Amino acid sequence: MTGPIVVVAETERDRPAPVTLEMMALARDMAGPGARDIHLLALGDRPEALAGELATLVEASSVWAVQAPELGRFHSEMVRQAVRAMALDLAPDYLLAAQTLEGMDVFPSLAPQMGASVVTAVEAFRSTPRGPLFQRAVLGGKVMEWVDPGTPPVILTIQPGAFSARPAPPQPSPVRVRRLVLSSGRTTPLPILAPPDDAAPLTEADVVVAAGRGIGKQENLALIERLANLFPRSAVAGSRPICDLGWLPYSRQVGQTGQTVTPRLYFACGISGARQHTLGMRGSGFVAAISIDPSAPIFLEADVGVVEDLVTFLPVLFEEYNGMKNDAGAD
Ligand SMILES: Cc1cc2nc3c(=O)[nH]c(=O)nc-3n(C[C@H](O)[C@H](O)[C@H](O)COP(=O)(O)OP(=O)(O)OC[C@H]3O[C@@H](n4cnc5c(N)ncnc54)[C@H](O)[C@@H]3O)c2cc1C
Repeated sequence: MTGPIVVVAETERDRPAPVTLEMMALARDMAGPGARDIHLLALGDRPEALAGELATLVEASSVWAVQAPELGRFHSEMVRQAVRAMALDLAPDYLLAAQTLEGMDVFPSLAPQMGASVVTAVEAFRSTPRGPLFQRAVLGGKVMEWVDPGTPPVILTIQPGAFSARPAPPQPSPVRVRRLVLSSGRTTPLPILAPPDDAAPLTEADVVVAAGRGIGKQENLALIERLANLFPRSAVAGSRPICDLGWLPYSRQVGQTGQTVTPRLYFACGISGARQHTLGMRGSGFVAAISIDPSAPIFLEADVGVVEDLVTFLPVLFEEYNGMKNDAGAD
């Protein structure tokens, strides 16, 4: 008899995050046709609405509304306790959670408590006669490895954007409620401060214009902002070096340790296209890239590539655009 797969839902502003649906699609692929139960856990102090919404989005044996007052905001000790309590009851073979900052905080450290092996940042899955194999990047993304996690239980943290969500089921999945009593932790979370950035959230922009180290100096961000201003519903973003330099706040960083964005149009300006960056933007509809290096990997992601110094190219682009606008106005 095979044990179930348990998926821990990830949320964004109390709504299901896309990675939750992606993890459920992976769980379905791992389960095969009807061979294993799949349980989805929605954690919170009032998780019923979230569980109800998830039940309409994914096909699960049960969507569990896991309730405890301490789960009202992220507190890694409490999440670990809650998931462990559910795992003791459900005895999963596989426990899936998102490879987010919170997921990285909670789940690898849950593995020793559950006597589980752990594979982090999973990007692909293959079923073999010996059991499932999971792919992850190592050496900063330069090498991909396949991992055989061995005998269950296994904890997997799943890279957002790596798997495709499935369509919603015709019937909602059953919802069940579990109220937990958690013991007080040894740590107390401090209030979460809003980032010092009042710009529109990156994830809601139709057009994202991203600056990389190739912009050279902070003053050249003005070119990036000017390009963004040509479009309604646009936002300026950056690669990690730009945020590390303090030229943009971290809330604007795109990539593995930043935001995952899926705009209709993504401009990569002076970005080489390291895998840690492209993981955060490869769901974009159309990608335009500008780099002086014709062999930059960003061009593998790009629909349109410009091999040019952006400090020369962008002013020419603005001039052309203004000329076209004036011509259109004169007609
Ligand atoms: C665990 C981990 C997590 C990470 N997470 C992230 C993440 O979330 N997001 C992220 O972005 N990175 C992340 N990184 C860093 C990542 O590996 C890269 O170092 C980073 O993305 C490189 O940023 P870049 O492309 O701006 O700079 P570079 O790699 O230096 O690329 C600059 C590009 O600009 C070009 N260029 C130079 N001058 C000009 C010019 N005048 N005009 C046009 N082009 C020019 C260059 O030819 C080059 O292609 C992470 C790394 C690790 C190890």
